[in-house]
Amino acid sequence: MNRESKLGVFGGTFNPIHVGHLRAAEQVLENLQLDAMVFVPSAHPPHKVHEEHDPVAPARTRLEWVRAAIQPHPRFRVDTIELDRGGASYTVDTLREISRRITPATPVFSIGCDAFEEVCSWREPQALFALAHFAVTTRPPVDTGHLEQWLPKCIRDDVVLSDDGRSACHRTAGTWIRSVEISGLNVSASEVRERLRNGQPVNHLLPAEIREAVVQSGVYR
Ligand code: ATP
Repeated sequence: MNRESKLGVFGGTFNPIHVGHLRAAEQVLENLQLDAMVFVPSAHPPHKVHEEHDPVAPARTRLEWVRAAIQPHPRFRVDTIELDRGGASYTVDTLREISRRITPATPVFSIGCDAFEEVCSWREPQALFALAHFAVTTRPPVDTGHLEQWLPKCIRDDVVLSDDGRSACHRTAGTWIRSVEISGLNVSASEVRERLRNGQPVNHLLPAEIREAVVQSGVYR
């Protein structure tokens, strides 16, 4: 990776942000020696269909939780780009804007292997991989990086896989995709919400900075 590729972008619903997100962001930052990781909470995530009994917290609330949770980490930032844009949040629009801002550098989009496998259902998937490098992290229970296995169909022809199957280069855009093995935490926002709904403790699942606020908000009760 050259000196220019040092800004990580971590998109998510963060409903709510949990320790699994923070661990993944920290490990990508360290592993790829990024200068900063920018968390980008979505306004209206097009992929998350939530039932009435399993709500998405208001965007500004999720943003405040992200802000508070990342506060102790000197290299973590938050960007309100998707909230400011409003409407459905498409990662391709976000990466276009961020790439434009930091040109000639290229952002590194950090994504879990579970989300990566679904990327062909996102808006303009081919464009995504030309706009940013991708750091694809393991996520428990998956603990080894098999890019070959995870590569979504719609971009297979656009990239060349390395011999060890852990990275790929875009044929024309000069971007790359890498698998990043992390010692992840087996936590999901759905699990956090479910536990809160059932009145169970979430002590080791949420960052200390927001635990009280999330429970007290009653959003997921
Ligand atoms: P939900 O359970 O509501 O689907 P989630 O926990 O998957 O939510 P998101 O905000 O949807 O959280 O995820 C944003 C990004 O963070 C995705 O790329 C996802 O793969 C990644 N991610 C979430 N939890 C973890 C984890 N425990 N370890 C590694 N990556 C994670």
